[in-house]
Amino acid sequence: MLEERKCGILYLVVPCYNEEEIIEHSIEKLKEKMNRLIKKGKIHPKSKVMFVNDGSRDKTLQLLHWAAKKDTMVSVLSFTTNFGHQSAILAGMLTSMEYADMVITIDADLQQDIEALDDFIQSYEQGNEIVYGVRNDRNTDTFFKRFTATSYYKLLHWLGCDIITNHADYRLLSKKALRTLSEYEEVNLFMRGLIPLMGFTSDIVYFDVKEREAGNSKYTLKKMIKLAIDGITSLSIKPIRIIGALGLFTCIFSVILAIFSFVGWLMGENIQGYTTTILVTLLMNGVTLFSLGIIGEYIGKIYMEAKKRPRYIVDSLLWQEERNSSESD
Ligand code: UDP
Ligand code: MG
Repeated sequence: MLEERKCGILYLVVPCYNEEEIIEHSIEKLKEKMNRLIKKGKIHPKSKVMFVNDGSRDKTLQLLHWAAKKDTMVSVLSFTTNFGHQSAILAGMLTSMEYADMVITIDADLQQDIEALDDFIQSYEQGNEIVYGVRNDRNTDTFFKRFTATSYYKLLHWLGCDIITNHADYRLLSKKALRTLSEYEEVNLFMRGLIPLMGFTSDIVYFDVKEREAGNSKYTLKKMIKLAIDGITSLSIKPIRIIGALGLFTCIFSVILAIFSFVGWLMGENIQGYTTTILVTLLMNGVTLFSLGIIGEYIGKIYMEAKKRPRYIVDSLLWQEERNSSESD
């Protein structure tokens, strides 16, 4: 264990979007866990839980502000509108960076086991700059989610992406890793692909996933598809190369077919094949449009990156310093 890493200041970053059904319960559980960690001397008493309200339209913000007024351990960063989960965790991390020695991101529904926090901190103390949380199994997922997630990780690996299977956004980053992350300016955010690219010493912590205790998943199918596409486009240009290869293959195939047909015609064969012609035309049009769609996806991303719009807009940051803090800065 590295001496200077003992009892560091931890900031827990918790993105919240329409979580009014569960947020009070989560606040209590997180506070209780943090207090236990402080008591054990694992983290510094100045550690905080930073909730990021991602433009919730229900009472989430109100409840969070309540909690922050009651307890200095709770701070609340609030967006003007819904910028998405990835932006919310980024904002939380970048805002905490100045004050924290380490930051851990965790979902507001606490489906991820908070008892694993001890392992994350221990791994940090041992000198790791990044600690990835990896779920033990997918038993709590529906068949659809399990199947799509597993296929997606396989696809990403096949595309050559250095991504950790079954690692979601439950992870620890040290101050050093956060500083590096802050230098990445991309708008197309896919944290779990981006962070391994930084290449610091890292470790894995395994944890269990529970069912959601209240409220519904805030990851609608639309948001999930968007995240999946963002993941591919932000990590790999292999899909464009595949289109190139497909084009070349089709050209060679067409030339061979043309030679065969020409020779057949010279030999007096009657060339038939109305159905084949239609099918080939349809197939090729389909392939062409699909390919254009893929290329368009990348062009769209370039367009968004070129605009350099802010990745999130902060409306307010509610924050209280400890009044009876025995230490001074
Ligand atoms: N979330 C967010 N913005 C969004 C969607 C989700 O901040 O636009 C948060 C949400 O409040 C939760 C986390 O992201 O803390 C993960 O969402 P959820 O638990 O609904 O996803 P699931 O576990 O079903 O994948
Ligand atoms: Mg969840």
